[in-house]
Amino acid sequence: MGTILSCLRSTYTSVFSFFGTGQQDDVDLPKATHSVDSKIHGEPPFEIAIIGAGIGGLTFAIGCLKNNVSFVLYEAAPKFSLVGAGVGFGPNALRAMDMIDPKLRTMYGDISSGNVTPNKLHVAMDALYTEEGFGTRRGWVPAPFGAECYERTSAHRWDLLNILTSMIPRDRVRFNKRVKAMEQAEDGVTITFEDGEVAQASAVVGTDGVKGPVRSYVLAERYPSEVAATYSGKYAYRATIPMDDALKILGSHAGDAKCFIGHNVNFMTYPISKGTQLNLVACKFSEDPWTYDQWTKTVTREEMVADFSDTVDRRLVKLLEWADPVQWALHHHMNTPTYCNNRICLLGDSAHATTPHQASGAGQCMEDALILSHLLGNVENERELPLAFQVYDVIRRPRAQRVVKTSQETGQIYSFTHPELREDMAKIVENLNKRFLWIWEHDLKGDLDRADHMFRKLASQT
Ligand SMILES: Cc1cc2nc3c(=O)[nH]c(=O)nc-3n(C[C@H](O)[C@H](O)[C@H](O)COP(=O)(O)OP(=O)(O)OC[C@H]3O[C@@H](n4cnc5c(N)ncnc54)[C@H](O)[C@@H]3O)c2cc1C
Repeated sequence: MGTILSCLRSTYTSVFSFFGTGQQDDVDLPKATHSVDSKIHGEPPFEIAIIGAGIGGLTFAIGCLKNNVSFVLYEAAPKFSLVGAGVGFGPNALRAMDMIDPKLRTMYGDISSGNVTPNKLHVAMDALYTEEGFGTRRGWVPAPFGAECYERTSAHRWDLLNILTSMIPRDRVRFNKRVKAMEQAEDGVTITFEDGEVAQASAVVGTDGVKGPVRSYVLAERYPSEVAATYSGKYAYRATIPMDDALKILGSHAGDAKCFIGHNVNFMTYPISKGTQLNLVACKFSEDPWTYDQWTKTVTREEMVADFSDTVDRRLVKLLEWADPVQWALHHHMNTPTYCNNRICLLGDSAHATTPHQASGAGQCMEDALILSHLLGNVENERELPLAFQVYDVIRRPRAQRVVKTSQETGQIYSFTHPELREDMAKIVENLNKRFLWIWEHDLKGDLDRADHMFRKLASQT
């Protein structure tokens, strides 16, 4: 595995134009230089190295198990862990879970929480002002946004981690394996870890998050300016508050999901852990660049409170007593020109890290996992791996990158800085009702059919 492959740029361009135009006559596919049909010998025809055991890597691993795709999951940390508290999913993500493995969807149902008010089943959040009185002083009545197709569900990340990991055999996972470097060759990828170990894989799927190293092996040569994530112009404080305490502070506003909007500030609260806790994400928007090396910055409790105390109802400020005074700088990948480079591919935040305003980053991980594991299940010969990655890129990238873009715009809406909507709350709610719908209603079965069709046509020509 000595020769480093050039990235087959010209042949990829032809594959893209084929997908774009629907024409197939001029398809010029990456030529296989190595062919091992090991199915004949009863061995898996290829093995995938999955780098990173977050929501993306774990869900993809479950998809691989369902599709009989052989893999090893490498994780830098000494054990499974998910950072943060709550995570919510839209109907698209729930469908993806169901299509990956119905057991996953059922188990998620067992750990998730909805709104407490029965007639708020289809409400994503109620929109209120952050200002003193939450808008009542100007006559505002909390207004819901959501959709018939949507059912409010969120979970504690710890509970989600438990169900995801319960579905993955431990002998497929290697902990304390931090990827240091990779080298791509004609017949696979050589991975070097920080502890000096070297591993081989037929291909690599980088699920190593927004800061992971795999992204550079896909983009650095062709699109160096797109490797690093960019600061989205805001940071967040996070907390979980016992629901009993939250009820004492917020009263009836505590039980159902709420989006409090103010000038350059946004508080989102929703129930998790079967309604026993309230999850809080408090965002502070600022024009200032993030100049720190680390993406978290510890401040004093007074500094945290000072970020909000001018403009925010004291009840919301009180909730911050449960937050660590740590600013989480929110970074994203606004542009990702491709998700793959021959035998290396990106999935989840390493491909399309997004801001949390539309609660869709983890849901997009699920969609990625569904499509890519399904495609790899169709791969019979390892020379087809780059084709599967190319088809995945065509199906997934436009949608996932659109989520990144609209989520950033939603951040403007949530801080009253959207150039058209500004402070017009009625128009904001109207806009939010439309803005989420295309994410939630998406036809994943259609994606799988399109993916199958493209892959079959391309593979038949190799
Ligand atoms: C405040 C906040 C709220 C959010 N709320 C929601 C929500 O409600 N709904 C939603 O859908 N999304 C939400 N998201 C987004 C969601 O959390 C992410 O999109 C998702 O967790 C990304 O998962 P991932 O597996 O791609 O990456 P990560 O979770 O970052 O996992 C990457 C893994 O790779 C490992 N790794 C990194 N480098 C290496 C290396 N060199 N070698 C080996 N392993 C490595 C890491 O240790 C880690 O385990 C939110 C995000 C934030 C910040």
